[in-house]
Amino acid sequence: CGIVGALVSSGSVTPGLIAGLSVLEYRGYDSAGIAVARGGEITVRKRRGRLANLEEAILDGSMEGALAGIGHTRWATHGEPSDANAHPHTGRSSGLALVHNGIVENYLDLKRELLNEGEAFTSETDTEVLARMLDRLWTQGGGDEAALVAAVRTAIPRVRGYYALAVLANCPTGPVLLAVRQGPPLVVGVTPEGGFLSSDMLGVAPHTRELVYLEDGDIALIGPGRLDITGSDGSVVTREARTVQWDP
Ligand code: GLU
Repeated sequence: CGIVGALVSSGSVTPGLIAGLSVLEYRGYDSAGIAVARGGEITVRKRRGRLANLEEAILDGSMEGALAGIGHTRWATHGEPSDANAHPHTGRSSGLALVHNGIVENYLDLKRELLNEGEAFTSETDTEVLARMLDRLWTQGGGDEAALVAAVRTAIPRVRGYYALAVLANCPTGPVLLAVRQGPPLVVGVTPEGGFLSSDMLGVAPHTRELVYLEDGDIALIGPGRLDITGSDGSVVTREARTVQWDP
């Protein structure tokens, strides 16, 4: 129901992710979760129920000290509200996690195919199909940033439905944050200190008033001082930033 993501140059990304999820609270949701990339590993925490449940689950500080992360508030469409069905979802490698707003209409077909290829699933969601598929393609492609973009480009034509996706991947050069949109809104903001994304301008405006709205088919790589957008055919895309008035 709401997604956030950030890749910053210093500090810890977790407090900002939680703050971002809390401003999305008005949309309503049944579970919340975050994933952070740190020391070549991705760690996920997710909880059914209110954001307070997730906040309690990370009180031990186990999610602090990461420069990149993604977060999600879920409005269940496929699979009951539960810890296991909450986002982020991951694949078989421990190097990739993603959050998703929307619906994968042909997820049963894709799931059957993946099961035949030996994949195992830990949730009943349509979303996990995307995580498993992208993780496979990404690792088979070499597990770097180019392989991640190529994986997304290969997967897109196979997916029927609606999605705003934020993908976090641990690449040899460091964590990579990728956003892709087909339907639900995605807003991006970039400063020298970090790259930020959210389903809602409220999730980005605390970081910058210069917002870029992704359009359908856009694939964006986001980081400090970085917004590289390409279309599904690989061509470079330019989106003008809009300055918003916003008082905290
Ligand atoms: N279809 C996904 C699920 O049920 C995403 C729902 C959402 O947009 O929150 O997990």
